[in-house]
Amino acid sequence: MAEQFDVVVIGAGPAGYVAAIRAAQLGLKTACIDKFIGKNGKPSLGGTCLNVGCIPSKALLDSSKHFYNLNHSYADHGISASNIGIDIAQMLARKDKIVSQLTGGIAGLFKANKVSAYAGFGKLLKDKQVQITAHDGSTQILSAKHVILASGSVPIQIPNVAFDGNHIVDNQGALDFTQTPKRLGVIGAGVIGLELGSVWRRLGAEVVVFEAMPEFLTAVDADVSRAALREFKKQGLDIRFGAKVTGASVENSVVKLGFTDANGAQTAEFDKLLVAVGRRAYSEGLLAADCGVSLTDRGQIAVDEHCATSLAGVYAVGDCVRGPMLAHKGSEEGIAVAEIIAGKPGHVNLDTVPWVIYTEPEIAWVGKTEQELKAAQIPFKTGSFPFAATGRALAMNEPAGLVKILAHAETDRILGVHMCGANVSELIAECVVAMEFHASSEDLARICHAHPTLSEAVHEAALSVDKRAIHRQN
Ligand code: FAD
Ligand code: NAD
Repeated sequence: MAEQFDVVVIGAGPAGYVAAIRAAQLGLKTACIDKFIGKNGKPSLGGTCLNVGCIPSKALLDSSKHFYNLNHSYADHGISASNIGIDIAQMLARKDKIVSQLTGGIAGLFKANKVSAYAGFGKLLKDKQVQITAHDGSTQILSAKHVILASGSVPIQIPNVAFDGNHIVDNQGALDFTQTPKRLGVIGAGVIGLELGSVWRRLGAEVVVFEAMPEFLTAVDADVSRAALREFKKQGLDIRFGAKVTGASVENSVVKLGFTDANGAQTAEFDKLLVAVGRRAYSEGLLAADCGVSLTDRGQIAVDEHCATSLAGVYAVGDCVRGPMLAHKGSEEGIAVAEIIAGKPGHVNLDTVPWVIYTEPEIAWVGKTEQELKAAQIPFKTGSFPFAATGRALAMNEPAGLVKILAHAETDRILGVHMCGANVSELIAECVVAMEFHASSEDLARICHAHPTLSEAVHEAALSVDKRAIHRQN
């Protein structure tokens, strides 16, 4: 007979594993099934985020930043070094150690919270039965009162550019180049293209990024994306806009790329090509035809605002449903659903999910952009402040970037905050809190911020909404 669970979670990425832990904390008998196999050939929890996404990319961004600074900016501090080298194998080993520490940590958390972990492929059958096909091919059935689908996403492939895992790669391949490619081509100037393009550029690769759109980072406020683009160009990232890739092939270990741009049909050659043109929800093999869960026309699992699917008792969270494809958004949905199942209130406000791009300068934002407010004809006022006018940014030798605040013209309620600069990944949290508490720009302006900190730029941007910034002319 099938073992009975209160909650069965399919997928142990940041949406699924967090949902499973919270459900177990709430006293629900919980199982979590995941199919991911790590680099050591063993099951590895944590999904895309921990294994081949957020964490390994940030580890490499950090290593490459130290190398870049040693070569380029420490001289300003009077620090000199000779024989600067980079041991790529050691850099990758450090990254892999962090990954295994964290993925192993989830296994430990599952044990401590009494979540039953199953390695294998989960499929939702009818009547909330879940079939597990283990990696050795054996199958078993679990019976669930509630099911949480958290199957995540996979990279989008483009026509005529086939991944070969060596020369033409997705994020997973670009996290594991065993040496710095002399020439790296990147398709897509989005989040992955910029983060992983930056890693290998800092380590010495010539990086050319092909972006189909005529504009840069259209989801980002235009003042901020302009300021960031200026810095990326200085770093030598060669971003070509309006470039439509027509195909790529590998000949004698060289990637030959065809593309068209304003100058017509062209070709380029690279040692490695990273394809980073977005991700799509993944649900292949997840749902039996008669299980009762519907997909949207974009292939996402269809859910309402509380992550409930078309079948009562079945929920879906994270990258496999609508909304931004971000780890923290998925985790919040996982917690909300576990709490709803346990009879508590649970809700995620998608309007205040922060975004961060971990380049140099970092880019972070929450809420609406100026472009969006204009399109929606919402009256607004803005205030901004450059980091170059703060003592801390100058002391850190990191003067690039700015903070920009958008507030409603009549009510002064904060509608969006956008920034690029050093450590803005941390500064954005204050603005998320402010927006969650429906703060006005005056609220932020009246709060005492420590001196000297980068957060003073947030304070001054809020003052500048009312034309009363102190350390610049309004
Ligand atoms: P996933 O993490 O994709 O996990 C889904 C899991 O379910 C996987 O392990 C998968 O193998 C498993 N699975 C799927 N189907 C089945 C099945 N039928 N049976 C069993 N198991 C199944 N986001 C951020 O917020 N910050 C970042 O800095 C960031 N950096 C990123 C960098 C890169 C290079 C990439 C690729 C992504 C990054 N993201 C980042 C996005 C983030 O990784 C995703 O938003 C997040 O992992 C989504 O979580 P999830 O749990 O929904 O899905
Ligand atoms: P993306 O949507 O961020 O960027 C894709 C880019 O590729 C866009 O600029 C798009 O215009 C361009 N593009 C699409 N098709 C193209 C084509 N045929 N030729 C040239 N350009 C093309 O997608 P991504 O960078 O692959 O990242 C996927 C998602 O993963 C992100 O949207 C984000 O949700 C998540 N992620 C988040 C982080 C983070 O939070 N720091 C980091 C990495 C990934």
